[in-house]
Amino acid sequence: MTALQPSRVIDAGSRESSRYEPLSSEHLPDRLGHLVEMIGLIGPADHWRVREVGDGNLNLVFIVEGPRGSVVVKQALPYARVVGESWPMSLDRTYFEYHALTKLGARDPGRMPKVHYFDRGQAVMVMEHLTPHVILRKDLIAGIELPLLGEHLGLYLARTLFRGSDFSLETAERKADMALFAGNVELCGITEDLFFTDPFHDNARNRATDGLDVAAIHADRDLKLAAMEMKFRFCSSLQTLLHGDFHAGSVMVTPSDTRVIDAEFATYGPMGFDIGSLLANFWLAFFAQSAHRENPATLRRYQRWILNATADVWAAFTREFARLWREERTGILGGRELFQSQGDSVAPEIALQARLAEIWQDTLGFAGLEMHRRILGLAHIPEFETIEDPVLRAECERRALAMGRQLVVHRLALPSLASANSVATIIQDCR
Ligand code: ADP
Ligand code: MG
Repeated sequence: MTALQPSRVIDAGSRESSRYEPLSSEHLPDRLGHLVEMIGLIGPADHWRVREVGDGNLNLVFIVEGPRGSVVVKQALPYARVVGESWPMSLDRTYFEYHALTKLGARDPGRMPKVHYFDRGQAVMVMEHLTPHVILRKDLIAGIELPLLGEHLGLYLARTLFRGSDFSLETAERKADMALFAGNVELCGITEDLFFTDPFHDNARNRATDGLDVAAIHADRDLKLAAMEMKFRFCSSLQTLLHGDFHAGSVMVTPSDTRVIDAEFATYGPMGFDIGSLLANFWLAFFAQSAHRENPATLRRYQRWILNATADVWAAFTREFARLWREERTGILGGRELFQSQGDSVAPEIALQARLAEIWQDTLGFAGLEMHRRILGLAHIPEFETIEDPVLRAECERRALAMGRQLVVHRLALPSLASANSVATIIQDCR
């Protein structure tokens, strides 16, 4: 594996410019026009055109076009953009995003944007402009089928999750990796709160569509016990380097290409966290469809495509994970001395099945929680937010919550992806 090499990294201590200042479209060419990386890629600064396109919750994102091409410039703000200056936030999230993009990018080459330049002091990263890619959520709302999507995402998950784990890494590299990302305290803390706790009690950051019985959810002891169990797994099962925010807004697509962006929430955690977050976003989109497609045949067809995409993700994940298990299990947890070296090829296959079964149960639990927090918590999703009629929106969201509860509370009773998908179709048809 070859690591993506950025042209230049300005780390803390050797700061390019002394004091952090947020960029603006107007001043960006003055501020960054001296960077040889940018001039080399897109041409001289007096010809740059700059657009701010950040639709995310936290950061500034600019597309900078020059005579020879374009790049994306991402910069952290000292607060959470979605809330404002009342929610201060460390600029160093760009530092963790830079390291996560390069590490995850090396574990599944070609899937993350290439990083050209990084300045820790200014919390600025210059990266490949993904074009004509669009955010996956847009296509899920528009009803566009992407034939290769599930396969690409399944391979990405298997490669990044396996290659960042003790099955692949040697002791020194693994401990250094974990120590690096253990520093991403602030964003990991946000996940701990927003994912596992906020949606299940009255919290000022929450909001929900009128008509949803939020009080009943807050009183649901089995659900809250399951949420705490999954929080325990998230905090204590430090299995691999996660993307940490792997939803349909962190994937950019064309009909033939799939890319992963926005890895600032990277942290060590259980493999099922990234897989569950992603699958949940497909299931959320599934339940939003009845508000976006009027023609019943078109609706059914697209909902079927979404469920098939989840099946493609899981099939590609398990197939590739098994291949890596057999071919690349050379790390701390390799175990070859105990089995293959003694001619036992059966035991590793038994261990593989045990790992996949555990990952599957985690996947269901985290997916069910993602489905709750996107409806009850702070960060909602456009699939539901674009449904103007609140009665219709509440109906779609109620179904998604019903599935989410089933996945979290009954995760041990759903043995396969097909059984989870049948929960989706039963809830869609019965209510
Ligand atoms: P945030 O961390 O604030 O959520 P994101 O990394 O998600 O920011 O970026 C916000 C938006 O900017 C994305 O939804 C996407 O539209 C655009 N974007 C980000 N990175 C790229 C890129 N490398 N190429 C093209 N567009 C990008
Ligand atoms: Mg982000």
